[in-house]
Amino acid sequence: MLILGIESSCDETAAAVVVGGTRVLSDVVASQIAVHSPYGGVVPELASRKHVEGILPVIEEALAGAGVGLTDVDAVAVTQGPGLVGALLVGLSAAKAISYALGIPLIPVNHLEGHMCAAFLGGDPLDRPFVCLVVSGGHTAIYLVEPEGESRCLGTTRDDAAGEAFDKVAKLLDLGYPGGVVIDRLSAEGNPQAFDFPKAFLEKDSLDFSFSGVKTAVAHFVTRHGPPSSARRSGSYRVEDLAASFQEAIVEVLVQKTMAAALRHSVKDVALAGGVAANRRLRERFREEAAYRGFTLHVPPARLCTDNAVMIAAAGYRAWKRNGFCRAPAELDARSRWL
Ligand code: ATP
Ligand code: MG
Ligand code: FE
Repeated sequence: MLILGIESSCDETAAAVVVGGTRVLSDVVASQIAVHSPYGGVVPELASRKHVEGILPVIEEALAGAGVGLTDVDAVAVTQGPGLVGALLVGLSAAKAISYALGIPLIPVNHLEGHMCAAFLGGDPLDRPFVCLVVSGGHTAIYLVEPEGESRCLGTTRDDAAGEAFDKVAKLLDLGYPGGVVIDRLSAEGNPQAFDFPKAFLEKDSLDFSFSGVKTAVAHFVTRHGPPSSARRSGSYRVEDLAASFQEAIVEVLVQKTMAAALRHSVKDVALAGGVAANRRLRERFREEAAYRGFTLHVPPARLCTDNAVMIAAAGYRAWKRNGFCRAPAELDARSRWL
């Protein structure tokens, strides 16, 4: 089964060709970072326009890279939501047109389910129930995933997503966009114990998250000690230490709660997914803790953690095996929220 995957939920226009849910023939991602960078965040209207310009060239590149033609495609999998509606509609319309013109199935995919499915693309078999942390720009949640079935949310963020906290703190510190990557890079040179930022574990046994407190703590720190530009001149603190300490507060909560979920549900496998899963310290701490507790850890390559269409094709394949395909594709609409 050869699936063309299409993703356009936020600021990446992506297409990929995947066979049987795991064999990747091509993986094309056109990032809009340069477009949104001057604004310090994604501007929805600009995102939609860039998707319109990029969608057909990206699909053509994915087909050419896979060495196949449109008529070789057995089904189209596309992100239906959650995301920016104007952005989603571009990928969805392209997918509907291809499905209609070729008479092939259209498989609507939940973007978060897509992130989760990247866990199946790491190479190791994942055929038992597992706990997956999905940690991205808009979401932070722990799921219990049945390999052949549905997934159940065990806990989610009550305010900011972890990626959002990275991005907002980077903006606050004037470090550029997207913030996660910059903070990851600076942290490698910093001392994570330099400052003690709040780690929100919430009520005993809670698997929910809250990251607004640590963000506010960084804001207070900057009010008291001055912005990084002045700290660099005066030497009052090292920006690298600030970044590393902030990162540590987020990473520690993510690691401890995911491990607690795995223990509670007696699974042996733990997976990591979503854009923030590209974070090197998070990956390192997950490796350490999983080894310590005897869990098998599944971490997709960083490229498959951030938005891409391979994961959408993989999720489409799983959904197709489970449910068949969408029977009224013309009526399918984009969903801004969809948990
Ligand atoms: P969602 O998937 O929730 O709809 P999204 O698609 O915008 O949101 P992703 O593309 O999955 O999110 O991830 C982007 C987020 O990942 C951004 O917040 C970015 O800062 C963060 N991120 C990317 N790389 C890193 C990194 N190395 N360290 C920390 N955060 C990172
Ligand atoms: Mg993105
Ligand atoms: Fe995403």
